[in-house]
Amino acid sequence: MSSMLMTLLSRLGAAAALLAAVAAPLHAEERPAKELFGAKTLPTVMQPQAYGSYAKGCIGGAVAIPTDGPAWQAMRLSRNRRWGHPQMIALLEQFSQDAQKLGWPGLLLGDISQPRGGPMLSGHASHQMGLDADIWFTPMPDHRMSAQEREQLPFTSMLDKSKFLTVDSRRWTATHARLVMKAASYPQVERVFVNPAIKKKLCDTWQGDRSLLGKVRPIYGHDEHFHIRIKCPAGSSNCKGQAAVPAGDGCDKSLAWWFTKEPWAKPKPSPKPVKPRYVKLSDLPKSCAAVLAGPAPSSEQAVTYGGGAAMAFAAPPAADDGIAAVIAADGGAEPAGVVPVPLPRPSLQ
Ligand SMILES: [Zn+2]
Repeated sequence: MSSMLMTLLSRLGAAAALLAAVAAPLHAEERPAKELFGAKTLPTVMQPQAYGSYAKGCIGGAVAIPTDGPAWQAMRLSRNRRWGHPQMIALLEQFSQDAQKLGWPGLLLGDISQPRGGPMLSGHASHQMGLDADIWFTPMPDHRMSAQEREQLPFTSMLDKSKFLTVDSRRWTATHARLVMKAASYPQVERVFVNPAIKKKLCDTWQGDRSLLGKVRPIYGHDEHFHIRIKCPAGSSNCKGQAAVPAGDGCDKSLAWWFTKEPWAKPKPSPKPVKPRYVKLSDLPKSCAAVLAGPAPSSEQAVTYGGGAAMAFAAPPAADDGIAAVIAADGGAEPAGVVPVPLPRPSLQ
């Protein structure tokens, strides 16, 4: 055979292989996990269990917080991210009542998790186990908002964008400070993420218990909302938590670092182009495949907190499926030693 013909045949072969690869549906294990989890509209019915880590995990037996409560309204309903571990949903309900006692009109709830947790098509790196929740810095308005208003109400930053990393004193109030510190006061809350400027403001002004300030962690973004993260619930033996926050108020070198140029410098381009890699179902804990395939409830109402959802919080310990290291993201990246090392760059969430 002539070499020209050989070349032609091998090219045809390569083209055919490429076509086959494109045409063949990817096995679920190899598909982007965010597509699989993003497509689920209801949770898996089971004893509540968080699997994996905050930025690489899933949840079975999640419940929804109602769109409205006496002291909260859930926002951006189209995202369908009102789902969480029952302990998180119970905490939000408690927090909303406590917030009103502080003089805060009520909570605007941002994202918690998808019905079965997991990676999302947009936004966060964490929020994957139903143990993270975002709360707006905007107080609840005095009327019940329409679904459209909840989609369209703009976020309001607490920063004065004309200055470097500075809280806008026209927007930030003592009640905002009390609200964040109240969130940090719950024993099950391990971390509260806020913008470094907000952390600094608290460091400079907080007159209450300074020991709780250590739970308030500076991170990129988080100037329009703050983020509450609770510990792995008791009985969630497949939930990989994070190390406890260091002792002290955190108003130290680790905070000062954020006010240097380093965290804000553009990352150096890597010498080789990095091929983007998506998280596949096979990258998540094995139990997440079962969570994905598990049975859905008969209706959303049946799994909405207070609307018929089983309130049995105590879950039997399940077999360990050997989760590896904690994946750091969305503030999960904790500084090594006193001064944080910015690589890999902590994600915005
Ligand atoms: Zn968040």
